[in-house]
Amino acid sequence: MSSPPDFSLTRRSVLAATTATLAASAMPAFGQTTTEKEASMLEDPTTKYPKPPFERQSQPFPGLAGKMVPKPDHGETSYKGSGRLIGRKALITGGDSGMGRAAAIAYAREGADVAINYLPDEEPDAREVIALIEKEGRKGVALPGDLRDEAFCQKLVEDAAAALGGLDILVNNAGRQQQAQALTDITSEAFDATMKTNIYAMFWLTKAALKHLKPGSAIIQTTSEQAYDPSENLVDYAMTKAAGMNFTKSMAKQLGPKGIRVNGVAPGPIWTPLQVSGGATMEKLMQFGGDTPLGRPGQPAELASIYVQLADSSASYATGQVYGAAGGGGQP
Ligand code: NAD
Ligand code: MG
Repeated sequence: MSSPPDFSLTRRSVLAATTATLAASAMPAFGQTTTEKEASMLEDPTTKYPKPPFERQSQPFPGLAGKMVPKPDHGETSYKGSGRLIGRKALITGGDSGMGRAAAIAYAREGADVAINYLPDEEPDAREVIALIEKEGRKGVALPGDLRDEAFCQKLVEDAAAALGGLDILVNNAGRQQQAQALTDITSEAFDATMKTNIYAMFWLTKAALKHLKPGSAIIQTTSEQAYDPSENLVDYAMTKAAGMNFTKSMAKQLGPKGIRVNGVAPGPIWTPLQVSGGATMEKLMQFGGDTPLGRPGQPAELASIYVQLADSSASYATGQVYGAAGGGGQP
C-alpha cells in the first residue's frame, strides 16, 4: 500500500530544521539573524495543503481515506510526539480515518496505548492505523462493530478496557452525515441512524466508560461548527452536533467534582471520507473549504494536537470547553 502524499513537514525536514537551529544556537550566529532562524520553521497555512477545486469523487458510506483524491493527511509522516500521554489508555471511535485516525496516531506518538472502533467495511483503513500505532511500540487494539447497538457499545468499552488494562481517555468521534436537500428527503430510518450513531452511541459509550475512568481521565467529543451555524441540507446531522456540544457542557459539570474533564472539538470543513460518502453535495465537495479565510479545507492532521491537548493532564483546568478548528470561519 502506498503511503499518503507528504503535504507537510516531513520528519527529515523537521530534523534538518531542528539540526540547523541547534547548530546555529551552538555557535555565534554569523550572518544569520533571529528572523531568518525563525523563518525556517514558518509554514504558510494558506499553501500548506491542497486547495479546491477538487476532483469529482464519491464512495459508498462509510468510505475509505485510502481511496480519496488527494489522500488526507492524518499526520502519518509529520506528527511528532513529546511524551505528553505516556502510559495513557485511549478508546477512539471512528479511529480508522479522519480526525479519529489523526488522534490515534498522535496519541500513540505521545506514548498512549490506543483502541480504535470502526465499521467492518473500514478494515483497510483500520489496519494502517494499527500498524502505525504498533510502529511506535504502543499497543494498538482493533475493535470493529456498529455503534448503533447498545449492547455492542457496552462490549466495546469492556473489550477496550480489558485489552488496554484500563481506560482513561474516551474520544466520542464516530459520526454519520448524509446531506439531504429537503426535510421530506430524510426517512425515519436515516434520521434514526444519524441519531443512533451521533447521540445514542455517545451516551451509551460514556455511560459504560464511567466505571473505568479515574480522576485525571478525559472525555472528548467531536462536535462541529454545524452545532452553532447549521447548513440547510444537514438538518438531522447538525441537531446531533448541537447535542454533542451540549452533552460536553452538562457532563463537564457532572464529572468535574470527580476529576474527569469533558471537552469537545468543533471542526469546520475537513478533508475526510465523511464528506465524499454522502456528507456533501458534489458542488460543495469540489469547492470544499474554498470559502474559509484560509481558502482550503483542513486536514485531519491539523487537529491532532487539539485532541492531544484536551487529553493531556497539563490542560487540567480545561473542562466544558469546545475548541474550534474551522480555518477562520465557523464557531465557537
Ligand atoms: P470519517 O468518515 O473519517 O470518520 C467518521 C467515522 O465514523 C468513520 O470512520 C466510521 O468509522 C465511524 N462510524 C460511522 N457510523 C458508524 C457506526 N454505525 N458504527 C461505528 N462507527 C461508525 O470522517 P470525519 O470527518 O473524521 O468524522 C469524525 C467526526 O468529525 C464525526 O463526528 C463528524 O461529525 C465530525 N466532523 C467532521 C467534519 C468534516 O468536515 N469532516 C466537520 C465537523 C465535524
Ligand atoms: Mg472511516
